[in-house]
This record gives sequence, C-alpha cells and structure tokens, in this order.
Amino acid sequence: MMVYSTRRVWETLRHKAPKVPWYSLVWGKNCPPRCSLIVWLIVKKAIVTRDRLLRWGKINDASCQLCNSSIESREHLFVHCPYWKSLAEELKCAMLLRPDWTQMLRMMAQVGTSRTRMWHGLMWCLMVTYTWKERCGVIHGAQRRTPAQVADQIRDDIQFIAYGNKSYIDILVELGYI
Ligand SMILES: [Zn+2]
Repeated sequence: MMVYSTRRVWETLRHKAPKVPWYSLVWGKNCPPRCSLIVWLIVKKAIVTRDRLLRWGKINDASCQLCNSSIESREHLFVHCPYWKSLAEELKCAMLLRPDWTQMLRMMAQVGTSRTRMWHGLMWCLMVTYTWKERCGVIHGAQRRTPAQVADQIRDDIQFIAYGNKSYIDILVELGYI
C-alpha cells in the first residue's frame, strides 16, 4: 500500500519546467534569502522601472534617480548606470560588469570555479538588491547614498555572512573583496 505523502501529491500535480541556467544564482546559497525575491523579480523583468511607468502614462519623466543621466530601465540600472559601475568599482568587482544584461546574467550563471562562484554570485545579488533598494529609497524621499556608502554596507553584510569561517574569509581576501 502506498503511503500518502503531500510531497508526492504536489510532485504529481505541479507543472514541471526545466531548470533555468540562473536558478542556483537566485535560489541557491549564493543569494541570501532576503535578496532572492528581489533578484528573481529583476531577472524576470517583473519590476516596475520608470521606463514602464512612462509607457503606461503614470509619470512624465523617466530619468534614472541614481544618476539623472538616462532613462531608467532594467538594462540601464544594472548594466549602464554610472551608479552601478561605481558600486562595482568600489567593491573591486568590475569583472562582473558586462555590455548588456543577457551577457551579464549568462556570465553570472557560469562564472568561475564553484569556490569563487558562490562569492561572485553573492556579491552580484547584493549589488542588485542594494541598487534597487537605493533607487526605491530615493524615489520615496530618502537621501541618496554614494556608491562608496552602499559598498560599505555590502562589505559589512559579506563579512557578517563569512564571520567565523576562515575558509570564507580566505576566499574574500583572495578575491579582494575585504
Ligand atoms: Zn542611472
């Protein structure tokens, strides 16, 4: 007699699709759980960027609130924005920059050996999350922080995650993150 299992019922009923290449990047251990939902929404292009609000007639000015130099879109915020690039440079991870979103996501899904991949993925997920939060904060009246200030917060997060684990600290030093 087969034993009833909620899991077995769920596995039978649910629609299964092949895993996307970025699955581990977003839902694996390299992305803190508090960042996964934001990063997933951004990867799925489900965030409401100002270019979309302009198209829907909700705003008249779609300028990026972090640099005021271009129209805000996902591609702009996480690829071309001077704020994003400065943040990457502050964190000494300009190697994560790519000329377009597709190339960047592809690289992030494959980058490096497994040992360094976790940390590059973690850094990217934190950069994406903090850049989006910073953008939302500015729109809602918060004072804009400099990329250096946001980088300090990301470094604090990373050191907190690595705290007490010598092999993690060794990797971070090797990668130049701390
Ligand atoms: Zn910008």
